[in-house]
Amino acid sequence: MKKGFLVSIVVPVYNEEGNINLLLSKLIPVINKYSYEIIFVNDGSNDKTIDEVKKQSETNNNIKLVSFIRNFGHQYALSAGYFRSKGDCVITIDADLQDPPELIDEMIKKWQRGYKIVYAKRSERHESFFKKQTASVFYKLINALSDTPVPENVGDFRLLDRVVVDFLNNLPEQNLFYRGLVAWSGYPSTNIEFVRQQRQIGNTHYPLIKMLNFALNGITSLSTKPLKFATYLGFISSFLGGAGVVYGLYRRLFLPSEYWVTGWTAIFVSVMFFGGVQLVTIGIIGEYIGKIYKEIQGRPSYLVDENKSI
Ligand code: UDP
Ligand code: MG
Repeated sequence: MKKGFLVSIVVPVYNEEGNINLLLSKLIPVINKYSYEIIFVNDGSNDKTIDEVKKQSETNNNIKLVSFIRNFGHQYALSAGYFRSKGDCVITIDADLQDPPELIDEMIKKWQRGYKIVYAKRSERHESFFKKQTASVFYKLINALSDTPVPENVGDFRLLDRVVVDFLNNLPEQNLFYRGLVAWSGYPSTNIEFVRQQRQIGNTHYPLIKMLNFALNGITSLSTKPLKFATYLGFISSFLGGAGVVYGLYRRLFLPSEYWVTGWTAIFVSVMFFGGVQLVTIGIIGEYIGKIYKEIQGRPSYLVDENKSI
């Protein structure tokens, strides 16, 4: 049993002014039996989120705030939280109370038993049909493509031991897909099931296009199989094209003229088909080149506004 440890709670917040007090009122009673710190990472909110956090920190000096210059995205907010955290274990939780703070106790208990990663798994999701379906397709696809199995229905609500956090913090990658990287690390893990509720106040910041980008990023960061897929697609279509040429030439050279392949339909169909295949494959390659380019540029993942941090 670990005694005298520090628990870090990392909360990324983007325009969550209405949720801060609500979250703290549920979170603090759960964790105040431990030594703790709560790190809010303000991801460029343009509402009163910062003021709300500052107000709370005046009466509770375990509350800290890292504030970004602008909106950099949820994953980077997690990065900043992991970097700033000092805890022996670090728990990341959403601000909108979709992740129930009551689970934290059990997570810590599992961690004390020796697990280095404790996931909170959504056994049931009280979310829209569309969100559930798209999430299910995403996990199926990523697991079909990736060599590292990414646990299904597990979001960013999880506990990590200091060793895992250090592993993440020391990665040279800029483009961090934490759900995949944590699984990739292979440290002993377990999960706790819970029912995911609707968000309390405000709207999701993950509309369809952002979810698609997140999914694409996840897949390309864990797997290079799509590149192979591009190659195979190229082989198959070249083979089909070759067969078409042989077929056309054979009829033209060896059969009477009523059997010749004539007209522009064949040309049109094949041009469309090969055009499509080429665009898909170039697109896939482009995704990876884009990633390489971003890594090579080596820009910082986020910029912190020191004046607005505490
Ligand atoms: N969030 C963030 N930056 C963003 C979008 C979201 O820090 O660009 C935070 C947000 O405040 C919340 C968490 O990430 O605490 C999850 O976001 P959200 O609830 O909108 O996503 P969903 O639960 O719908 O997937
Ligand atoms: Mg949410």
